[in-house]
Amino acid sequence: MKIAEKRTYDMQLLPESERPRLLLVDDQPVNIQVLHGVFSNDHEVFFATNGRQAIKMAHTCLPDLILLDVVMPEMGGLEVCRQLTSDPETRDIPIIFVTGQDSPEDETIGLEAGAVDFITKPVNPAVVRARVKTHLTLKHQTEQLKSMVFVDGLTGVANRRRFDECLNIEWNRCCRHNKSLGLFMIDIDHFKKYNDLYGHQAGDVCLQKVAEILSSQVGRSYNLVARYGGEEFVCLFPGISMENAMSKARQMVKALYECALPHAASDSASVVTISLGVAVTFPAQNRLPEELVAAADAALYSAKQNGRNQISSRNLT
Ligand code: GH3
Ligand code: MG
Ligand code: MG
Repeated sequence: MKIAEKRTYDMQLLPESERPRLLLVDDQPVNIQVLHGVFSNDHEVFFATNGRQAIKMAHTCLPDLILLDVVMPEMGGLEVCRQLTSDPETRDIPIIFVTGQDSPEDETIGLEAGAVDFITKPVNPAVVRARVKTHLTLKHQTEQLKSMVFVDGLTGVANRRRFDECLNIEWNRCCRHNKSLGLFMIDIDHFKKYNDLYGHQAGDVCLQKVAEILSSQVGRSYNLVARYGGEEFVCLFPGISMENAMSKARQMVKALYECALPHAASDSASVVTISLGVAVTFPAQNRLPEELVAAADAALYSAKQNGRNQISSRNLT
């Protein structure tokens, strides 16, 4: 797995829609004009002339970075900064203070309020560009790292950690809304023999293809496919009925079969196949999500026992 690609923004190469979004906040329009002149060519620029407007725009425009004046009438920059950094929706947006006050005390107060940096007025275009670029790069890299924590390096689907987290979240959500929760436990048939015949690298490519097919079949965005470990995958389907779960499972088995990835060493078919255990339940606070996993696992075991390349199910009451 590639760890944090070393990458900095090459602004000129970014298409219009992917340009970094900057929010400029200053009660003096002339200051906004100066910064607009510095950034408008290669950034998408928004502006606000008071604190309340700034907070509103931080939510609606979702800027990548905010350049924030400290001294403004009514709500000052420090208060704006405190509110934005304590709100989960906006706390990851880096804020750079642009200020006329440059004493160490002022800087400390600003950094304590949650700002990432300080720039003094009158702004030097080269300095402000360099600082903005640095903080945009840091933000981008942090986002990449955060997303990698939840992604399986080989297949690109969610990893076990993400699955465990989603299972708990969905279990509780389904409890609250009295909705059902479906879980598939999926295992590639005779995969050891696949590796033995075609080699481990071909085995890796096979895992990637299976993950791709499962992802293309999983449907709605709130459903999830994850790599559970080795050649096993899991899927979560909030709100699904047993009938719909079975039809979804049949689609998955069929889609992989029709992909016809050769598997000359399989005892079950001439192509790569999966066995699939389905479990559906109505989650309750006095039960644990692990019960659903165990039921799907037991169903998978039956599917294997019954000859593989098939589905078996368990209804939990
Ligand atoms: P069954 O039909 O009963 O599931 O048989 P199986 O051979 O698929 O199951 P078994 O658990 O005996 O073997 C699983 C194999 O999956 C063995 C292991 O080397 C392989 N495997 C696990 N993770 C990876 C991986 O990341 N890459 C590759 N290429 N192979 C893997
Ligand atoms: Mg296995
Ligand atoms: Mg297997």
